[in-house]
Amino acid sequence: MSVFLRKRFEALKEYVPGEQPQGKTVIKLNTNEAPYPPGPETEAALNHEVAAGLRRYNDPGSLELKKAIAEHYGLRTENVFVSNGSDESLSMAFMGFGEDGAAYPDISYGFYSVFADLYGIPSKVVPLKEDFTIDPEDYADTGMLTVIANPNAPTGLELSLKDLEQIIEENRDHVVVIDEAYADFGTVTAIPLIEKHPNLLVIRTCSKSRAMAGARLGYALGSPGLIRDLEKLKFSTNPYNVNSMTAAAGTAAFRENTYYKEQVEQVKETRARAEEAFRKLGFRVIPSSANFIFVTSDKIDGKTYQEMLKEKGILIRHFDNRRISNYNRITIGTPEEMEKLFRVTEEILENC
Ligand SMILES: *Cc1c(COP(=O)(O)O)cnc(C)c1O
Repeated sequence: MSVFLRKRFEALKEYVPGEQPQGKTVIKLNTNEAPYPPGPETEAALNHEVAAGLRRYNDPGSLELKKAIAEHYGLRTENVFVSNGSDESLSMAFMGFGEDGAAYPDISYGFYSVFADLYGIPSKVVPLKEDFTIDPEDYADTGMLTVIANPNAPTGLELSLKDLEQIIEENRDHVVVIDEAYADFGTVTAIPLIEKHPNLLVIRTCSKSRAMAGARLGYALGSPGLIRDLEKLKFSTNPYNVNSMTAAAGTAAFRENTYYKEQVEQVKETRARAEEAFRKLGFRVIPSSANFIFVTSDKIDGKTYQEMLKEKGILIRHFDNRRISNYNRITIGTPEEMEKLFRVTEEILENC
């Protein structure tokens, strides 16, 4: 740290992303990326025309991309905000709607507390129940911005639409953000509630179910008022936040939806097999509605298991948070990658 940093940032604890090994061949199951590449139309969209167009600024309104997203969900472009990853949408939601504080679960996406600190927003951290589920009663009239990841990460557990609507209704005076980074792998989405609830903001990403983590494309869906607020903040920080390459690829990705739907189905099949395989190996597996599983075993400590897999070239994610220190989050890879993981896990358990 230099002597020049503003005092208010001195104690800020930044978000620590999962490891991204450069160049090494490893089985990478630590950051919930898609195991398959983007679709053919998405790839073809990154063409000569887009390359030649780089000399110009991109459309700061991202209209083509917003149209593709709006069409896909049966919404209007006025309901759509696009951002540099969904992290940027989340950042702006905290920046814009955190006036009275922010409430979110103790075990959830680690970035929420970072944004709260960054913007000097007091947090109400609400413990998950003993079984890691969320009790909607705990969020009855929080009196502040409420942020719920559904499905939650890293547990993979999903709240029902009824429970979500209860939280949204009971917090009418504040914004409720539903972070749906993993919703394509589950059964519930709050998008149909947008029409009825002007305080609802659904935040989504192309990083997981649309195989574009490196393109950095996220979006927020909500009432026109909320979207205009986010636009105001965007035009006050980074008007060209979604670059022209990402906009072209993203537009194509929403127009070739069938490709991604098939990939998601494949991941769900592999997930079912992985849950079964881990249970057979004696692990406790939380039923997952996401593209990862959250597992623990009495036979091996969570941190040790993660380190031993790493020695064998397999990366998974371990969190130091006390309540979940014996768990690991494992991204669903290809069937071949998962077979290797099961074999290596069996070997590790035999030797401990
Ligand atoms: C991955 C993830 C995000 C952010 O993804 P981006 O790559 O920034 O779009 C947001 N929320 C949750 C819960 C996530 O797991």
